[in-house]
Amino acid sequence: MVAPAQCGDRWPAAVARDWVRALAGVAHLQVPRAQLEGQLRDHAAAIAAGVAAEPHDLEPARAAGAALVGAHITDAAGIEATLTVLARHLPADETRAAVLGAIAHGYARALRDLTMHEQEQLARAIITAQAAAERSARQSEERFRAIFAGAAIGIGISDVHGRILQINQSLVDLLGYPPEELRGLRVSELTHPSDPPEMWQNYARQFGGEFDHLRMEKAYYRKDGAEVWTDLTVSLIRDEVGAPQFAVAMIDDVTDRHHLEARLRHQALHDPLTGLPNRTLFGERLTAALADAGPGPRVGVCYLDLDGFKRINDSLGHDIGDQLLIAVADRLGECAAQRGHLAARMGGDEFVILVERTAGGDQLTALAEAALAAVQAPVTVGPHRLRITASVGVVERPAARTTAADIMKAADVTLYRAKAAGRGRWARYDPEAVAAEAARYALSAAMPDALERGEFSLVYQPIVGLPGQALRGVEALVRWHHPQLGTLPPDRFIGLAEETGFIVPLGRHVLRMACREMAASFTDQDLFVSVNLAAAQTQEASLVADVRTALSETGMTASRLQLELTESALMTTSGTPLQSLYALADSGVRVAIDDFGTGYSNLAYLRSLPVHTLKLPRPFIAGLAEPRGVDERIVDALIRLAHAIDLTVTAEGVETRVQAELLSELGCDTAQGWYLGRAHAAPELARRLAA
Ligand code: C2E
Ligand code: CA
Ligand code: CA
Repeated sequence: MVAPAQCGDRWPAAVARDWVRALAGVAHLQVPRAQLEGQLRDHAAAIAAGVAAEPHDLEPARAAGAALVGAHITDAAGIEATLTVLARHLPADETRAAVLGAIAHGYARALRDLTMHEQEQLARAIITAQAAAERSARQSEERFRAIFAGAAIGIGISDVHGRILQINQSLVDLLGYPPEELRGLRVSELTHPSDPPEMWQNYARQFGGEFDHLRMEKAYYRKDGAEVWTDLTVSLIRDEVGAPQFAVAMIDDVTDRHHLEARLRHQALHDPLTGLPNRTLFGERLTAALADAGPGPRVGVCYLDLDGFKRINDSLGHDIGDQLLIAVADRLGECAAQRGHLAARMGGDEFVILVERTAGGDQLTALAEAALAAVQAPVTVGPHRLRITASVGVVERPAARTTAADIMKAADVTLYRAKAAGRGRWARYDPEAVAAEAARYALSAAMPDALERGEFSLVYQPIVGLPGQALRGVEALVRWHHPQLGTLPPDRFIGLAEETGFIVPLGRHVLRMACREMAASFTDQDLFVSVNLAAAQTQEASLVADVRTALSETGMTASRLQLELTESALMTTSGTPLQSLYALADSGVRVAIDDFGTGYSNLAYLRSLPVHTLKLPRPFIAGLAEPRGVDERIVDALIRLAHAIDLTVTAEGVETRVQAELLSELGCDTAQGWYLGRAHAAPELARRLAA
């Protein structure tokens, strides 16, 4: 099947061919077949153009439905055949449902107008006959009888109190009551639960003479209990001075059409795969839940997205994926129905549960838990036993002063937060988290321009030898001088830059800047600069070339550069050591492992890698405040082990003299920290060191 927009004239022609054939099969064509086919082709072309328009124009589809009535195809089989043909020729999506719905709507509207027209003629005839009664009672009585008795439509006449006086055979057939039982009933006794509350008031007003015609779709119970849907028109007949005298009801059986419309409405509002309500129905219900809300009521939604569904779909095939979706939909539907809520499929692997009136946020989180549990139970699909989890965004708030769009936007960002926090869990909407997220987004979006404008700079923290505390090198630490937010420390933006990938150009810039400033401010050839590399940078194919370029461009010697990598950054994503490490070490650059002990590598393994230094993070060093404690024994062991495999050790975060002395005693090679020197811009640090 091809989308109508993709195929020019061929689509309308193909549709028209099938369409006219289908119609000829179910109805007697009153227009020559070739002529009808031509008309249908034009309608198909117009429908295609409407669908191609943005937003969709459904008027051509409605016109096509109306055209069926124009061609005297008024039997329900004609519209059913039409919808079947169009359904076959349109891609199965929400647009198709909308187009089919519009065709049915156009058809129903045209048919209603047609019957209305016929009924009016009939009513006029009855009224004329009635009016003639004064002139010639007998003659008019005969004419009246003829029209009345022979009409194919059900007709009943009542007095202005609603007492049924006369009925014709069609009405007897329609309602299935014996005529004598119907006569003498009051119209108000023929009620149905679907009657709108204002209906009987309107009757009373009409019988009181306020208006002449009343028209509605109304259901009746037949005597045998079956339901009939009718198109009901009530016309008032007045006497010569204008006082209401009788009411003539014309009752046309439209049960077939009603059921067809109901089925189409169901189709348009439900997901064909899972049978759950679709996005449209959910939207209607949510809007309704918000509309009639006073200050008190609260609404809630659980917005749910399956974790890793795409992988199952891609690896096991769409059939299995579909079966899994059906199973999940069934469970969610049941989970919601048990509690009297609505579950809908929003598309793909997204579902939502609507709580139209909530008892508070805890109810929603309990529902989210239940939904997660329902999804997580294993699903057997053919030979596969599948387990899937979901993430849920929970929003619960007062119904007043919010819109459906706001709620769905909140649910969406909250779902995203639940996903980001790890899978198989729910998150509750939190305006502060959203604001923080928005701020993070703004910050990450601003980074490329900030780099262009030179808003990133480096400060350098001294690294000193132990004992003696002579300067050995510096660690370069990046800062962002944000025009509005002031100077930002790296933990405000490095993580973000890693997420967006911007860390790669930023890291390249830092590397070059560190080499340049080093060469300019610290001419002592024995001093080194230590530059932090993020994991994403080490996975870049260009890393070795970037380092070489930075060195050659700035005239720095390779032996003066140290790169700090975390344990995880030493490995490729497949768990093998980074090849570029060897190339870097070969070129004379030194490699330090930053924050050692916070990752997963072991010392024995490090032995096989071209690594030179371990950096012990601040938490280890902080514990050195009390001598002979556990931390001292750990630091002692780490230093011994490092030395055993020819690695030097740098202690970080040294804040006190006690710590510095202890580290000295333990044989730690170098150290940095506030006690030993704060970080400063290169010229400033050079000046302080000289002083
Ligand atoms: P890190 O590599 O562990 O850097 C040491 C951090 O500890 C620095 O924070 C430094 O200012 C701070 N520090 C130094 N001495 C002391 C002390 O005695 N006490 C305390 N409490 N803190 C001390 P900073 O500059 O905020 O950097 C934080 C982290 O950001 C760094 O941790 C590093 O992982 C990352 N980072 C900094 N610059 C860069 C960079 O250019 N590239 C990359 N990829 N990451 C960087
Ligand atoms: Ca570092
Ligand atoms: Ca560190």
